[in-house]
Amino acid sequence: MKEVLIVVDMQNDFIDGSLGSKEATMIVGNVRSKIQSYLDAGKKVIYTKDTHPENYLETYEGKHLPVIHCVKDTPGWQISSELPWDETLCSAVEKGTFGFLAWKELLSDVTDIEICGLCTDICVISNALILRAIYPDKDIFVDAKCCAGVTPELHEAALKVMASNQIEIG
Ligand SMILES: [Zn+2]
Repeated sequence: MKEVLIVVDMQNDFIDGSLGSKEATMIVGNVRSKIQSYLDAGKKVIYTKDTHPENYLETYEGKHLPVIHCVKDTPGWQISSELPWDETLCSAVEKGTFGFLAWKELLSDVTDIEICGLCTDICVISNALILRAIYPDKDIFVDAKCCAGVTPELHEAALKVMASNQIEIG
């Protein structure tokens, strides 16, 4: 277990909504157990929320991925209700695209970091590489059983690329 757990985009649209997949639904139990173990240990959990405006299809991302998802305040934008939330230990950050750029303000006091969630080859790897760039000396860990990719092949490819960037894969 690391000092903080980042749970990437475990939102309904990515699990069983407009961009959902069988692989994504299959990791929910693993992610739930992992979050609970962090909370039981009194550690912080930070959820990221992919967050788009209603005119998503007019955005750069929307032109390249024309599937409406995670429009702010819609049911698909909500974090899965199967995942635990603790008022003291949990927080959520909204991000308008794959990577969140303000980790430095949130994690500068943390010695090591674990990341899990969706999708391995888009938002998990984007945030892992941003964190690796910000924090070249911190341990960053990704549990493959708590991530799913757009396809199983892309999941495996992303794990390999993260390992190349000295992100520990378990
Ligand atoms: Zn998106």
